[in-house]
Amino acid sequence: TVAIALLTQDLRLHDNPVLHAACAAADEVVPLFVLDPDVDAAGFAAPNRAAFLADCLTDLDASLRPLGGRLVLRRGPAASVTARLAAELDAVSVHVAAGVSGFAHRRERALRAGLGDRLHVHDGSLTALVPGAVTPAGKDHYAVFTPYFRAWSQAPHRTVLRAPKAVRTPGGLASEPVPTAAPESPGLPPGGERAGRRRWRSYPLERYAELHDDLAADGTSRLSPYLHFGCLSANELAAAATRRGGDGAEAFVRQLVWRDFHHQVLAARPLSARHDYRDRGDRWLPEDEEECTAWRQGRTGFPLVDAGMRQLAREGWMHNRARLVAASFLTKTLYRDWRIGARHFLRLLVDGDLANNQLNWQWVAGTGTDTRPNRVLNPLAQADRLDPDGAYVRRWVPELAHVAGRKVHRPWLLDERPAGYPEPIVDPAALSARLRRARDLD
Ligand code: FAD
Repeated sequence: TVAIALLTQDLRLHDNPVLHAACAAADEVVPLFVLDPDVDAAGFAAPNRAAFLADCLTDLDASLRPLGGRLVLRRGPAASVTARLAAELDAVSVHVAAGVSGFAHRRERALRAGLGDRLHVHDGSLTALVPGAVTPAGKDHYAVFTPYFRAWSQAPHRTVLRAPKAVRTPGGLASEPVPTAAPESPGLPPGGERAGRRRWRSYPLERYAELHDDLAADGTSRLSPYLHFGCLSANELAAAATRRGGDGAEAFVRQLVWRDFHHQVLAARPLSARHDYRDRGDRWLPEDEEECTAWRQGRTGFPLVDAGMRQLAREGWMHNRARLVAASFLTKTLYRDWRIGARHFLRLLVDGDLANNQLNWQWVAGTGTDTRPNRVLNPLAQADRLDPDGAYVRRWVPELAHVAGRKVHRPWLLDERPAGYPEPIVDPAALSARLRRARDLD
């Protein structure tokens, strides 16, 4: 007998419910990944993620070989490609992970139409806790983080699954080569489960609480792309960190719960990927090409914002604190629509993720789940707090590399203006009034 494990955002051997179920269902298993043009058409594909994905696929295939298996790659619409292969092999079952996006729901419906009850959809691949596993009385999801965190902490969690000891894949199956993809950013990390596990094992979790808000220390885990592609299981990381205990591990688990939180919002409200989660009226100024380009290029003249945007361009990743400041600057200093920023982030982020990106953007913009939607982040106050010595800015903005200390955050006050660095696109003297206006928009 043969079963198909249709892999999507679960490109790993460890703690993989889909692979586990397929191995239990039949003697032989086809780990299948479909290069689906509909993913590109839906706007999810981007060169940085395509390059990381290529690593993930190569790595997974290499890990399957010694177990007697291999990854089969096919190209085309996932549902029809899978149904065709299932017919060809007379597969007893097809296993796939439940997704949270509208795209994943559509794919699941199309798979069901082609496969009927041979399709088995497995919960628990994507998040530590299944979306909808905990809900407030009478509602289908939590709209506020803190009560979700409490419920999450008290809920029973799935047992972590071991990697399979053997995966026997039938011989003679045609497979596409792993597509080569040139990244847009030169400084991407290597993709794949083994790289992710190495990073996780070597990460000093006990220092997370102390370091995670310090921009210059760069002390967060940088596990987000591995979590996005499912090279690592959020369930496994949460279980391991909880076992370890201590302030660092606890603070880290809290961040994983934020990830679960946004996923359960998107699962319940798939349209919040595009529309305001909370409709607060049209509060944005029309897109201004010059201003938005300055923001995208990291040339706003506000050093912390620019440092973040340049880190994004170079590494396809940005520190969480810099993401908050850059997003707040676009939405609450320039008053531009969060979708403009979310689109740019999704183009470049190697961890670019519909649930985390769109809902974090909405949180910052005040259209999402923040219980204080009028909160504003002053980029200068944030710079003094998160980059007190200015080292993060000097690392990413070479025009300012010679400016010592925190003076780097206000180049307009220097005796000599740094050559090549732009003047602020918003008059710093008018900044407070602008932020007040953002706060008082209602
Ligand atoms: P760590 O601090 O080490 O945290 C560990 C893990 O917890 C992360 O890998 C991530 O999976 C999760 N996590 C941490 N913070 C958050 C958060 N605020 N929301 C959800 N999950 C979190 N994260 C993405 O994975 N993809 C995105 O597309 C994305 N877009 C964002 C856009 C904006 C405007 C903002 C403010 C945040 C966004 N985040 C996104 C959340 C967060 O910035 C990143 O997850 C984090 O910076 C990744 O770095 P890390 O792995 O070192 O995180």
